[in-house]
Amino acid sequence: MEFAERMSRLGTESAFDVFAKAKQLEAQGRSIIHLEIGQPDFPTPLPICEAAFRAMKDGYTGYTSAAGLLELRTAIAQQLSISRGIDIDPGTVVVAPGAKPIIFFTVMALVNEGDEVIYPDPGFPIYESVINFVGAKGVPLPLREDVEFRFHLDDLKAAISNRTKLLILNSPQNPTGSLLQADDLAAIAELARHHHFYILSDEIYSRILYEGKHVSIIQFPGMKERTILLDGHSKTYAMTGWRLGYGVFPKPLVEGIVRLMINAHSCTCAFTQIAGIEALNGPQDCVDQMVAEFQRRRNAIVEGLNAIAGIHCLKPAGAFYAFPNVTQLPMKCDALATYLLEEAGISLLSGTAFGRNGDGYLRVSYANSLENIQEGVERIGRAIAKL
Ligand code: PMP
Repeated sequence: MEFAERMSRLGTESAFDVFAKAKQLEAQGRSIIHLEIGQPDFPTPLPICEAAFRAMKDGYTGYTSAAGLLELRTAIAQQLSISRGIDIDPGTVVVAPGAKPIIFFTVMALVNEGDEVIYPDPGFPIYESVINFVGAKGVPLPLREDVEFRFHLDDLKAAISNRTKLLILNSPQNPTGSLLQADDLAAIAELARHHHFYILSDEIYSRILYEGKHVSIIQFPGMKERTILLDGHSKTYAMTGWRLGYGVFPKPLVEGIVRLMINAHSCTCAFTQIAGIEALNGPQDCVDQMVAEFQRRRNAIVEGLNAIAGIHCLKPAGAFYAFPNVTQLPMKCDALATYLLEEAGISLLSGTAFGRNGDGYLRVSYANSLENIQEGVERIGRAIAKL
């Protein structure tokens, strides 16, 4: 079959391929420890599930308005107004089936063929995929280990041109766990105002934070008009399969985004939205408990990896990924990831799945039990000792 030409430009997220391969090995009877997939292993907290059951019984089984139920948009705006410290109008909040559609539709609505979009490298692979899909030019912004996987201002300045339309930020970051600091963001805001580009700020991990304070670019003067703020329920409330994300858009962009949604999926699942309101307005100790558990796992995995000769791993500030440097080992990271799966039953990702600057690293998700993490680190150590 001959696909449309644009399909050759659409990438993917190789975590799903590695996960499928690991599942295949498991089906053959191999013991696999999953450290590849970026989803909390906790069940969705029961009060959220119960709100969905009730909603189904109450008839929330049809279409909703495309932008989302006003009650949910209001709850999101209230929560963001508190957490981001600026007043957010519910009319600028658009609800979507997950955070990914917010990325896709933002790029579709804003970026022309030939425009340039700066994106973090290493970074979430969907950014580059969607940039290429619309025929724009992706300009990677290197994240550097010497500044805890933040960026050098000179690199950012060098990436900007008069064709720059959009800069994508992600903090706390996938895959490195890095956290942008207020002074990084102030510098970016100044450049965005000066060069008239927009920011897509992916803050999906804003609540999964162990050290420091999450600051959003949207708080800086003049940035509400230039920022698309993305967040969602997938990671915070262990709701990846429910499909619930949202964006806050500059007012003029809202109508176009909603029109894209009407064309693509009509609306987000009604009872998922009701459950989403319960998540935001209900008690938040479930989030605190999950974050405390992730922190214990982070400490265990970083300590365990650093105890292996040839591996050096920074302590990530947020998200649930470690990004160890493996350049001292006698195997390149792609081959090493395959070797660890086949030899040790450890499923993780090569850093190159996140861009050219991921070369020399592995991404290890610690969204798995402490027991599995400890066993995983031991197996990695034993396999590497054989190299
Ligand atoms: N942004 C980043 C940085 C992510 O890591 C992910 C999920 N892996 C998403 C967006 C997508 O989230 P969702 O499942 O809500 O579409």
